[in-house]
Amino acid sequence: MFKKQPLIAWLMLVAISVMPLSAFAQTPIKYHSNRYSIQDDIKLGRQAAQEAESQFPLLRDEQVRSYVENVGRRLVAGIPPEFQHPEFQYYFKVVNARDINAFALPGGPMYVNRGMIEAARSEGEMAGVMAHELSHVALRHGTAQATKGQKYSILGGSAGIAGTILGGPGVGQLAQAPFAVYLLKFSREYETEADILGSHIMANAGYDPRDLANMFRTLEQQGAGGGGFLSDHPSPSDRYARINREAEMLRVNRSAYNNDSREFARIQERLRGYGTAPTMAEIQRSGQRYPVGEQTGNYPNNPETGNYPNNPPTGRVSYPSSRYQSYNIFNGGVQVSVPNNWRQVNEGNSVWFVPEGAYGQYNGQAVYTHGASFGVAQTSNRNLQSATQELINSLAQGNNNLRTTGGYQRTTMSGRNALFTTLSNVNEATGRPESVRLITTQLRNGQLFYMIAVAPQNERGFEEAFGTILRSVRIND
Ligand SMILES: [Zn+2]
Repeated sequence: MFKKQPLIAWLMLVAISVMPLSAFAQTPIKYHSNRYSIQDDIKLGRQAAQEAESQFPLLRDEQVRSYVENVGRRLVAGIPPEFQHPEFQYYFKVVNARDINAFALPGGPMYVNRGMIEAARSEGEMAGVMAHELSHVALRHGTAQATKGQKYSILGGSAGIAGTILGGPGVGQLAQAPFAVYLLKFSREYETEADILGSHIMANAGYDPRDLANMFRTLEQQGAGGGGFLSDHPSPSDRYARINREAEMLRVNRSAYNNDSREFARIQERLRGYGTAPTMAEIQRSGQRYPVGEQTGNYPNNPETGNYPNNPPTGRVSYPSSRYQSYNIFNGGVQVSVPNNWRQVNEGNSVWFVPEGAYGQYNGQAVYTHGASFGVAQTSNRNLQSATQELINSLAQGNNNLRTTGGYQRTTMSGRNALFTTLSNVNEATGRPESVRLITTQLRNGQLFYMIAVAPQNERGFEEAFGTILRSVRIND
């Protein structure tokens, strides 16, 4: 049974419930129309993350990673309920790159460059960039933008993803790379929304939202323009003032988190210990796209006998790094330097150095698409050319497609007379034509020492590395 309320009481009740809202008149934010599902965001982001991680070296430092992850988790918890997507899988990784940048992908993956952490003047500033990025994700700006420029399905294949999201003029050259989805420039309207929602997230998570504004100042001062964060996130005209105005209407939830600047200082100190990170451009030039273990150097310099995957090689590999690592093989009898993004794989009596993706098994056999191997062959011939021919004959026995394509050329290996021969082959696993370079020389005991360098015929990026490897060989017999 209800008692009829006097009208005035109703009005007062309404007024009271409205009061706190008007006192904290945050700028309301709405979703843009979006014809994609939440699952589409997740799928797109997952594909792009895979690409990104095959292109950029992650910083393998557990302390730094978990620190950034913790900041990220706090921010995710601060996303207002209407923009929470429980299906999204937020995670946070640090890229070992100097550029002052960060990017987030649809559905949750976020990558923060080391340069960004080093440039920030406080944890709050770093969190500011992350909150801005999170806002693009939570507002589903990637697929919203694709909805506007829709010509064909962005889920119709990786080329389509980039093609559509980057569909604007001037970005066609990026359309080949699916991960380039992250490079898309948002409109200034979207940027303002990410600033506003970012400031709300900051306040909810216990950070001063003015740190987001401060970070944009820092970015300007540190030259994060061309290629950096500011070129990917065009600045609305009054960005700094706009964020600060919004900040005045927000109450920082100090109970969520009380920022301790000492931890941030410790992390920056730790990063300085790694020396200067490469720039993204340097990373792409050197082809060093695999995670770098900063503490241990590179791939473990130890034999990994039989440690190749059961599946065939994909043949999709990175270019050889311009940095080299020295290995001792055959019990120290041979020293050789190979690109530091290759790993050692021992197979029978030979040793392979291969990039990831270039080795695997096919029909029970170890198969290589790119790389260099070294071995010692028993031979009945004391003559180098005859011994080499004997080796070629034995290699051809197991392989009908192997053909000699040139004669013998004289060269040197470790200061000794050597022979250089090129052969052609069809790779068993990929079916692609490949060129095989064979360099042979004799050991003091009369055995034949050889280097074999393999790459697909149409891939020129390996010649230089093979030459450098050959020149680095030192035989101590
Ligand atoms: Zn942005």
